[in-house]
Amino acid sequence: MGVKARHKQRWRTRELLALTLVLIMAAGAAPSRKNLLTNGGFEKGLSKTDEPVGWHTKLTGVIATPQYTDPANKKGRTGIVHFRCGCGHDWGTVRPRPMLVCPQCKHTNPGLEDSGDLYQRNHEYVRLVRGRHRKAIGMTLPKAVGRAQGVRVISKLVTAKRGEGYEIRVDAISAGPHLRVFVEGFIRQAQEHEQPSLSEATKPEADPHGHTHRLKRVFRKQINIGTPSTWQTFSQRFVPREGYAFDAMFVTLYAYHPGEAAYDNVVLRQLSPVERQAHLKQKKAAKETRLR
Ligand SMILES: [Zn+2]
Repeated sequence: MGVKARHKQRWRTRELLALTLVLIMAAGAAPSRKNLLTNGGFEKGLSKTDEPVGWHTKLTGVIATPQYTDPANKKGRTGIVHFRCGCGHDWGTVRPRPMLVCPQCKHTNPGLEDSGDLYQRNHEYVRLVRGRHRKAIGMTLPKAVGRAQGVRVISKLVTAKRGEGYEIRVDAISAGPHLRVFVEGFIRQAQEHEQPSLSEATKPEADPHGHTHRLKRVFRKQINIGTPSTWQTFSQRFVPREGYAFDAMFVTLYAYHPGEAAYDNVVLRQLSPVERQAHLKQKKAAKETRLR
């Protein structure tokens, strides 16, 4: 074999090795590469509710309204509290659980805080725009909104596996607004008791997604993105500590301060066992360095 031929042969072996490695890696990583979010790239357009497929932009909140024996003077609390939607709808005397849809205004209640009607017009500041890769979700924040509640886009509820690790990754750009992304983790609590006001709250039209369990938030991960003036990718990995494992999660894309911003290519995926181990090891090492 001449020098040239041997050289060629060596290259072939090397190429073959590289290809085999790529195939092995792809096979090993494939199950956890899957995006748990529906339409994370916003390519699928709008759903019947005029919201991006897989996402909620028509949001609302509740406000706890105490009942008085003398309502005109707000005196004599009866101990009964009514939970009212931002649109005025009375959910009854049991707090509606997160992610229910108001039967009156048809907006989703993320249930993170008692925001009342602050987000009732949230969807008016959100639209599909040209993104990093075809469509993206754009946000336009007028001064009054940017300086107060900001704008949110919330993913549909995603099932999680207790104890597993996840990665959240987004592309983002901003001309003004400060951007943050949250992953909220919830445990599913036992089936609800048949209290009259609660069964009212959980009529099928209030629960179009069939979340039959009460959700309690136990976990939150955030990426503080800031104000990237060009498209940039941001990601975080997380493994909930023991006692903070969750059954379901949703992603919030958030913007505050006036101006325009956009998010694209949002991926929430489960870590492979190797990635999970590596993350835990890295966290442990970081903690030990801090304690030294
Ligand atoms: Zn409502």
